[in-house]
Amino acid sequence: MLDLAHRDIKYLQGVGPKRADLFAKELNIRTPEDLLYYFPYKYIDRSRTYTIREISGSMPYIQLKGEILSYETIGEGPGRRLIARFSDGTGVIELVWFKGIKFIAEKYKVGETYTVFGKPAVFGSKYNIAHPELDPVDEELDKPTGLQGYYNTTEKMKSSFMNSKALQKIIFSLIQSLPGALTETLPAHVIAKAKCIYLTDALKNIHFPQTPELLRKAEYRLKFEELFYLQLNILRYSRLRQQKMGGFVFSSIGQYFNSFYEKNLPFELTGAQKRVLREIRIDVGSGKQMNRLLQGDVGSGKTLVGLMTMLMAVDNGFQACLMAPTEILATQHYEGIRKLLEGLGLEIVLLTGSTRKKQREYIHKGLLDGSIHFVVGTHALIEDTVKFNNLGMVIIDEQHRFGVEQRSKLWRKNVHPPHVLVMTATPIPRTLAMTVYGDLDVSVIDELPPGRKPIQTIHQFDNRRASLYGAVRKQLELGRQVYVVYPLIEENEKLDYKNLETGFETIKEVFPEYTVCMVHGKMKPADKDAEMQRFVNHEAHIMVATTVIEVGVNVPNASVMIIESAERFGLSQLHQLRGRVGRGADQSYCILITSFKLSEDTRKRMEIMVRTNDGFEISEADLQLRGPGDLEGTQQSGVAFDLKIANLAKDGQILQFARDLATEIIDQDPLLASPENFILKKQLERMFARKVDWSLIS
Ligand code: ADP
Ligand code: MG
Repeated sequence: MLDLAHRDIKYLQGVGPKRADLFAKELNIRTPEDLLYYFPYKYIDRSRTYTIREISGSMPYIQLKGEILSYETIGEGPGRRLIARFSDGTGVIELVWFKGIKFIAEKYKVGETYTVFGKPAVFGSKYNIAHPELDPVDEELDKPTGLQGYYNTTEKMKSSFMNSKALQKIIFSLIQSLPGALTETLPAHVIAKAKCIYLTDALKNIHFPQTPELLRKAEYRLKFEELFYLQLNILRYSRLRQQKMGGFVFSSIGQYFNSFYEKNLPFELTGAQKRVLREIRIDVGSGKQMNRLLQGDVGSGKTLVGLMTMLMAVDNGFQACLMAPTEILATQHYEGIRKLLEGLGLEIVLLTGSTRKKQREYIHKGLLDGSIHFVVGTHALIEDTVKFNNLGMVIIDEQHRFGVEQRSKLWRKNVHPPHVLVMTATPIPRTLAMTVYGDLDVSVIDELPPGRKPIQTIHQFDNRRASLYGAVRKQLELGRQVYVVYPLIEENEKLDYKNLETGFETIKEVFPEYTVCMVHGKMKPADKDAEMQRFVNHEAHIMVATTVIEVGVNVPNASVMIIESAERFGLSQLHQLRGRVGRGADQSYCILITSFKLSEDTRKRMEIMVRTNDGFEISEADLQLRGPGDLEGTQQSGVAFDLKIANLAKDGQILQFARDLATEIIDQDPLLASPENFILKKQLERMFARKVDWSLIS
């Protein structure tokens, strides 16, 4: 393999310096090995050649074999087209081109035999195929398989005649020139356990499948290998870290935790909250550093779990901090926590970007000398000037809002890393969590506090908005509050603000007897907070806002969430927004307003929202609809999602199996030092040499 990985691709048959340049620039393919790992994105069954006589009304893509009888150019201007009469002896069909006329007529000669590939259409009483693919009959390429791979190429490549077929040819001659077997990249014991085929066979069959069965086996082998090494890498580092860095031991549940539990806790914990607290207690007592992801749907009571976890730290002589993504949320947490902890004699402070200098200095000093027990804050917490006396517990709320970098900075605020609990209401599908967070343990709160009624979600077209206001008025008359949310994206900022302003004016006109406030990201933090506060205090009845309210805001009296232009939001975001209501005991409603004309995707998203309140179901659906690369949180997570063949949305089972096997191997041989694991070690070094070691960071 060494040779393949280092030779320049330009020396391959059919490539040369110019094409090599295109390969490098357009597809980042520089070596024969790169090319071997550039897989087809689809396969088309060309095993059957149809006759022209057989062609009927609605056929899929079919293959014909025959000769061009004649050419004719018809029409002028944009309607100009080239028509070839094509026959295979059983009949005649027209092949039509609207573009590349000169080129086509020169390239494909009258009287020669070609394979034609395309979708027949009825045109008047005749059949034709528009922009078919024509290939000289190539016994060698056409023979070995009925399944033909199709490769993605770029516009630039295509204009230099490097289309799928050209790539196929180059890869074909590369494979022909390979020595008998390539250096295997999985050790024998892994191949045996995974029951997969050898690398050489897999690579040959992924490009030129001999049978559909072998194609499946090739795909499985390559997907498995990809996921297996990803997991092996994650696990290897997490084991090393666990060995090197012990965690603080919180051996006792003490005075603060107990008196909070007995005196201050305003309600009974839910079963799920209790279970998660037990899981956390085991972690922090184990001597290992806790690295736990707490998933719980909006309103499931994660904050309380976080708070009680912080108390465990204080009971054992450590400081704790809670970081939230926005100032509003940090403030709300701070005020909530201060109230809950009243009378316990703990010093709690709030640190955000707008904390005044004097207070800031006071906080810096108190954190350093240990007189402050808890700090709640925003990104301001990770600044270098913030130093702790003895930080033992870091809680991060709505973790998907933070990047890996930011989180790791908190991590380094003590000589030993503190325990880390990250909380999220955007559940991450299991497969993704395994890949993105690798060694993070996961706890789930799958139970809402008692008395909550499921939110009723309604999808409404925007021409029926008026009829909706009647229902909204009823809620207002009952004393409830209402959110109206508008999308806001940077590229479209001007128009979006206009929509927001117009919406604000309309709402004021429709509900003159109620007070309407407005919040958006362009406002000064102080003004924004003041408007928020008016809503929190029930001075304002309706809040018109952008997604700044998406995360965390807690106004239990709000019972209606209207989302304008809902088609412009992703599923997770819609779910988050919906979670702003349904926080009290009253029946709440979420109304998704869209235009009448919807794409298939949007229609599905609305259906899912109407059907379920379950965040996990929604995030699975999101993964299926959008693919992992787009999922909120994965961009910032620092994982390059350059999986070549595995698909996290579809290959969950293979991933689970790969992870189990990787775990088994790392458990037996953490350093991969044994001879039978030599290949594994070498491969990992090759594959991950240049990548950031994000698995070291929680
Ligand atoms: P989230 O998980 O979305 O962060 P919160 O922690 O904000 O949820 O909790 C939502 C609301 O539920 C808060 O008003 C909180 O006080 C309340 N709550 C939390 N736990 C319980 C419980 N066990 N019983 C009743 N209410 C609870
Ligand atoms: Mg929360």
